[in-house]
Amino acid sequence: MLKTFRMGGIHPPENKISEKQEIEVLAIPPKVFIPLSQHLGAPAKAVVAKGDTVKTGQLIAKGEAFISANIHSSVSGKVARIDEIADTGGYKRPTVVIDVEGDEWLESIDRSEAIVRDFSLSQKEIIAKISEMGIVGLGGATFPSHVKLMVPDGKKAEVLIINGVECEPYLTSDHRLMMEKGEQIMIGAKILMKGLGVNRAFIGIENNKPDAIEYLSGLAGKYEGIEVQALRVKYPQGAEKQLIKAMTGREVPSGKLPIEVGAVVNNAGTAFAVYEAVQKNKPLFERVVTLTGKSVKKPSNFLVRIGTPVSALIEASGGLPGDTGKIIGGGPMMGKAMTGLEVPVIKGTSGILIMPQAESLREEPMNCIRCAKCITACPMGLEPWLIEKLVLVEDFERAEKERVMDCIECGSCHYTCPAGRPLLDYIRVGKSRVGLMIRNRAKK
Ligand code: SF4
Ligand code: SF4
Repeated sequence: MLKTFRMGGIHPPENKISEKQEIEVLAIPPKVFIPLSQHLGAPAKAVVAKGDTVKTGQLIAKGEAFISANIHSSVSGKVARIDEIADTGGYKRPTVVIDVEGDEWLESIDRSEAIVRDFSLSQKEIIAKISEMGIVGLGGATFPSHVKLMVPDGKKAEVLIINGVECEPYLTSDHRLMMEKGEQIMIGAKILMKGLGVNRAFIGIENNKPDAIEYLSGLAGKYEGIEVQALRVKYPQGAEKQLIKAMTGREVPSGKLPIEVGAVVNNAGTAFAVYEAVQKNKPLFERVVTLTGKSVKKPSNFLVRIGTPVSALIEASGGLPGDTGKIIGGGPMMGKAMTGLEVPVIKGTSGILIMPQAESLREEPMNCIRCAKCITACPMGLEPWLIEKLVLVEDFERAEKERVMDCIECGSCHYTCPAGRPLLDYIRVGKSRVGLMIRNRAKK
């Protein structure tokens, strides 16, 4: 029987309408907008100024804090300004704006198609290279990858898990990458294994991608220690804790990180970026993005330079459909509505979903009917209806006791609620208030 996680989970319609669309290189726009904060942790510090000329791959901002990441130019051209520009959520963030003047890459980057298998770097050198090249988790969390490889004292990594689940409906960028860059993902996984000091890696793929399971299983024979595991389709299997449970049977305790049970999870796209960083000396300045939606003329998977406005992807896939209701950055379950079309693609942008008006309207919520469906759906064993009530009456002490901080914001409760309660909206408010309480407590 195929493995999956035990508690909760749902089965939303998959709608993987772009899964057969090969990755297409998107034209470089006339201007790119590269935010200094597109990863988890402290923003990077600009090392260029207005008027500077930059090459493709050149460092433009340095991640100086322990949790931060370097940022590189995705084009060659001239820095037009460093300005506050709205991100996908509408918040203004310092951003390097570059007027594109061609595409002259740094000479140090190997641009050949030849596959390189050089495993001579030491563990320390691998971590340093991944940090230098600005690699972050490409599944959406954007945690700096070099930090993930630095196992804290007293903990021990035993297994690397490559996340090829892509359980969010509609998104297909990882699927296409696994089909088209499978060999490079395997090499990236081997490098990550060495960086972590482990000799075992599992690649988890849900069985709605049989072609990827077959292809990568065939390749795995050549790479000692790597095993591909097919998983039963269930959302949110791509979440770290659920994936670890499905693949190893181990349960990450409440409030702890995967390393607690000896596991480190990296996305398939991250493994590819690690391959490019270590074998090709290529910084992370482009990524695969799915542009999709039921009314989109040509749902696509594009290879996009970081900083490209979303409008360029929409145009390349046939233009904005007339019935558009919402544009979501990410998938329909965990993505967030975008505030404009000119927001740039960043390292964490795995997809853009254009939702028709008819599907994007929320129903008027009704009273809770105490059906417990939200409890059954929650993969973290929470009681979403109760947390919502606690947030409504502002009882944040009790919300903390009810483990609001364990919520992974998967949206399964909201999706499943027959009363249309906006459970996740309230839970997010609760997380932010309880998070503040915890930080204030730590200061005392
Ligand atoms: S959003 Fe949070 S509370 Fe709701 S199902 Fe997911 S983990 Fe549970
Ligand atoms: S699913 Fe909705 S209606 Fe049912 S108990 Fe949860 S909040 Fe109430």
